Amino acid sequence: MTQISNLTTQELSNWLTQAAKLAKTGKLPDYIPLLQENNPNLLAVCLLSIDQKIKTEGDINKIFPLMSIIKPFLLLYVLSQFGQESIFKKVGRKPSKYPFNSVKQIYLDQGFPRNPMINSGAITLASLLPGTDGQSRCNNLQKWLNNYGNCNLFLDEFMLESVASLPNMNNYIIVQELMDKGHITDPDQALDSYNHICCLSGTITDLAKLGLLLAKCPDSLSQENCLIVREIMTTCGLYEASADFAQQVGLPTKSGVSGAILSIIPEQGTIACYSPPLNAQGNSVASLFMIQKIAQWLNN
Ligand code: GLN
Repeated sequence: MTQISNLTTQELSNWLTQAAKLAKTGKLPDYIPLLQENNPNLLAVCLLSIDQKIKTEGDINKIFPLMSIIKPFLLLYVLSQFGQESIFKKVGRKPSKYPFNSVKQIYLDQGFPRNPMINSGAITLASLLPGTDGQSRCNNLQKWLNNYGNCNLFLDEFMLESVASLPNMNNYIIVQELMDKGHITDPDQALDSYNHICCLSGTITDLAKLGLLLAKCPDSLSQENCLIVREIMTTCGLYEASADFAQQVGLPTKSGVSGAILSIIPEQGTIACYSPPLNAQGNSVASLFMIQKIAQWLNN
């Protein structure tokens, strides 16, 4: 495989120009006001290799919330704290053909969260974070990630306020069902913890640095846990689009409704992209395009 550090700025800029055109076909999410008001023309990419060679292009100073990209890192953290056996008793690891916030899914699965990359699974895992409320749980995850990932994630309080400003009916139904089936004990606190961690924020470079945690697992963490997280990203990370993307691109990948997408190149590095307009599955149109182009180039 070619090394990402060999990619030229010219090639990257050409793809960014094409990606910017494609972004116009996407839509901003309408259920989080601050994301809906975002500038749709923002576009940023960061390639980072495990030997710290970095390449960035576009709006690299823009700070955005990780939203669902926090999910694989939440999984990594709880696996490291509680072990596989205990975690996979609470959350499954099978792909879902339904949207990330599907209510139908939770009924079909009789309340059992199908995987940690969709809301039901992540809310269940967020309720296990050590801490007494959303704030302290988020703080513990943030510290752990900044320490191991050598990045500067912080909680964006304005984004959190915006997330809570409109009722999210799907997430309300999901937490009620999770409680009815005994997976969580305090639905408000579980949802609040989940909303907090979705608002952990940083730049495209912070996201790429975080990704390195999964590209080359630090000696102090379990290699097996990193492999499990990568595998679940590959099969479930882009929701209904996961299987097609895995066939075409094959890199463990996770998207967030803020427009960011992170791909892991195992033992080599990471690709982080950001562009707010989304396709029907809630994945950033331009970020998907960029990752496809870079992955094709890597395989040539
Ligand atoms: N906080 C968002 C939600 O639950 C995160 C979803 C996402 O990024 N896909 O709707």
